[in-house]
Amino acid sequence: MKNDELDTLGAREQWLALAIAGSGTGIWDRNVVTGEIHYSAGWKAILGYDEDELTTRIEDAYPRLHPDDLAYVQAAMQDHFEGRTESYEVEHRIRCKDGRYKWICSRGKVTSRDSQGRALRMVGTTTDITSLREMAEQLRETVGLITNLTNEVPGLVFQCRRQPDGHMAFPYVSAGIADIYELAPETVKCDAACIEALVHPDDLAVYRASFAQSAASLAPWHLEYRVCLPAQGLRWRLGDAKPRRLPDGATVWHGFITDITERKRIEAELQELATTDGLTRLANRRHFMSCLEAHFAYLRRTNGLPAAILMFDLDLFKNINDRWGHAVGDEALRHFADILRMELRTADMAGRLGGEEFAVLLTLADLKGACVVGQRIQRRLATQLLAHGRETIPLTVSIGITELRMDDADTEAALSRSDQALYLAKKNGRNRIECA
Ligand code: GH3
Ligand code: MG
Ligand code: MG
Repeated sequence: MKNDELDTLGAREQWLALAIAGSGTGIWDRNVVTGEIHYSAGWKAILGYDEDELTTRIEDAYPRLHPDDLAYVQAAMQDHFEGRTESYEVEHRIRCKDGRYKWICSRGKVTSRDSQGRALRMVGTTTDITSLREMAEQLRETVGLITNLTNEVPGLVFQCRRQPDGHMAFPYVSAGIADIYELAPETVKCDAACIEALVHPDDLAVYRASFAQSAASLAPWHLEYRVCLPAQGLRWRLGDAKPRRLPDGATVWHGFITDITERKRIEAELQELATTDGLTRLANRRHFMSCLEAHFAYLRRTNGLPAAILMFDLDLFKNINDRWGHAVGDEALRHFADILRMELRTADMAGRLGGEEFAVLLTLADLKGACVVGQRIQRRLATQLLAHGRETIPLTVSIGITELRMDDADTEAALSRSDQALYLAKKNGRNRIECA
């Protein structure tokens, strides 16, 4: 070998030694036959020993191993000696000079065997993985904490991912998915199809669009929607989540879904209370007025389809109360409301304005058509008599009709016209129809 080759070889060994020392890795070299083992200075440094400390006997090494790890380490070593594994690799705890334990990873390989294959010599490396193990442990604790927290929150805490092609999945869901969707977490991890299958058919398009819009604009996802669940049946859900764009173009949301069925039921009840008349279940005065205004605004926008207002006042109603009593009077008001419901189409709207006064908004009807409807109502009132015991209670109604005109300043103008027509009907003898 030439001198410069030797120099190069020396230099390479030095690099290697420096690299190994710098990486915090220790080296050991074991004579399997004599039980002698040599440790590099770096190896000893991991355990806090100086270069001249520690014996070279393998049996002195075993007491340094954590008692819980000893059997596992020895078995791994035996497996490799006997050729059952390609190499030896274990992670275990080892006692340092100061008595504390460190986690290390040891890797090694038998480098020579006798003619029967028995191990003669083995070399290997040892790396300190204490901080890695601590980090992993912290990570496990953090994940455990988050999982426990999200599992305790009522409702479903989730992470949702949507690919640019629209494919959706929920990589993380809390235990609340059992309540919110009656599903197991694994079923939505890679594909959210089984959630979409539960969304009410009438809400599915809006549900999909809400995610697409939130992904496009990165505005928060917020949606109230219905689900049809095998055990719970029809339920309302509220979802809220914040989106974030990932470098690969996917969108990821973090948020939660809660059960708002009870809130929706109360809202519907309140809505019903606020808009209907308790006695007749028709729209109350305020609700009728706001529907009338909405329809008037709609007609103005769409430029003038016909519509008519019919104003009703039961004739000499005071006499009904006086003769049969107030409860029968109430019964008569309900009877008249039923007749209105029977005679009207779903697009029409009937309301009780107060006392024995009612009003109807007829859509797509001119004066002539409205008169026909008014006559039908009078006829039915005359023929479908309200029974009270053996007696029947005669009821008649006066009607004032007007059309909604596009040059009306507001709905009040039209209402007051129908009122005047009604006044005329009363004046001209009751149980009749007048138009204005
Ligand atoms: P007209 O033909 O001129 O309309 O005569 P009328 O008796 O119907 O007119 P009036 O307005 O003098 O009387 C209306 C009566 O309706 C007075 C009131 O006792 C009765 N009434 C109003 N609201 C109710 C109700 O909720 N239940 C009952 N039973 N009667 C009511
Ligand atoms: Mg009246
Ligand atoms: Mg009356």
